[in-house]
Amino acid sequence: MSRDTAWEQRWRGALAERQAQGLYRRPRLLERRDGVHARLEGRDCLVFCSNDYLGLADHPVISAALAQAASEVGTGSGAAHLISGHHREHEALEAELADWLGRPRALLFSTGYMANMGVINALAEPGDTVYEDVLNHASLLDGGWLSRGRMQRYAHGDVAALDAALAQTSGRALIATDAVFSMDGDLAPLPALAELAARREALLVVDDAHGFGVLGNGPGSVAHFGLTPDQVPVYIGTLGKALGTFGAFVAGSETLIDYLIQRARTYIYTTAPPPALAAATRAALGLARHDTWRREHLVDLVARFRDGARRLGLPLMASDTPIQPLWVGDAARAMALGAALLEAGYWVTPIRPPTVPPGTARLRITLTAAHTPAQVEGLLGALARCLDAPAGAPG
Ligand SMILES: *Cc1c(COP(=O)(O)O)cnc(C)c1O
Repeated sequence: MSRDTAWEQRWRGALAERQAQGLYRRPRLLERRDGVHARLEGRDCLVFCSNDYLGLADHPVISAALAQAASEVGTGSGAAHLISGHHREHEALEAELADWLGRPRALLFSTGYMANMGVINALAEPGDTVYEDVLNHASLLDGGWLSRGRMQRYAHGDVAALDAALAQTSGRALIATDAVFSMDGDLAPLPALAELAARREALLVVDDAHGFGVLGNGPGSVAHFGLTPDQVPVYIGTLGKALGTFGAFVAGSETLIDYLIQRARTYIYTTAPPPALAAATRAALGLARHDTWRREHLVDLVARFRDGARRLGLPLMASDTPIQPLWVGDAARAMALGAALLEAGYWVTPIRPPTVPPGTARLRITLTAAHTPAQVEGLLGALARCLDAPAGAPG
């Protein structure tokens, strides 16, 4: 029995408020998963809400690499990279990432959250300004707020507003943006941002969590736009999405990486990821790099979904990526729609504030290379039925 302290009362009050606003959240229990088939709290369903874009998260070649490496090197790295935890599997993965991206060097981080926090913190000094898109991922925003620089947000994708703000800036400026916005699926205007950054001598930092492995025939958003590494000097990618494993990296010049090794606190003061995980990611990287059919299939599915949704009059948002949100607006309605879709056998997460701005709740549908055209058609049918039903009585 825990004592009912003033703290407990505060938390209970906040929880009740969340419940009343329809914003209460809890993790859903996944009992089994096999590709896109899942058993969720006793119900069989098709998963349309993972970030496993290439369908690699349960690929047998990657699991075998993990098991094999674990049998050789064990589970834990034993220490931080700078103490005794930096294994040759980490080193090899960093080299392979850098090679694929055509950049001199890459540095592993335990998670994308830590990479973003660590990079912004290390690079922004007192007197600098960190400019961030309002729709950036929480980890980039937190990195800006916790940095010693001044944090300033600009309207979503608004390069002109950013240009005007930069014109007024004294001191150095960093521009940090998601490449693919995680809850919207749209792309940042990277060519315009790169041009602006070059003209104003600002540092462009790009988080390509949803583009790496997917866009530009694999190497991500910078390749998609035909930009050079020099135009986007700080490139951050994650390994838990398209690559189907776990972790993150920053890629850039020798000097940048050397500097981050000295200064990024989320790199320095944390245990290095398990070396076997690096071995698994190397196997994933090989598949992601060489099997282009997964990306081609994914592009077909995205086109099929958008065509079908347009025909059915579904509230599509402006996205050409595998993130295909449907606009709902009201948080409670989004929840009801999510429940109705699950009833129909489709697991689609409703996204509500504070993850997205108030009044912009949506169904965040994600497509992966593991889906079939028939499964996408099935989802479209279920969406049409559920969205047509009067609010409060979907299905
Ligand atoms: C998922 C995500 C992250 C965080 O990556 P993790 O490895 O899951 O911590 C960072 N940025 C964006 C845009 C993301 O979508």
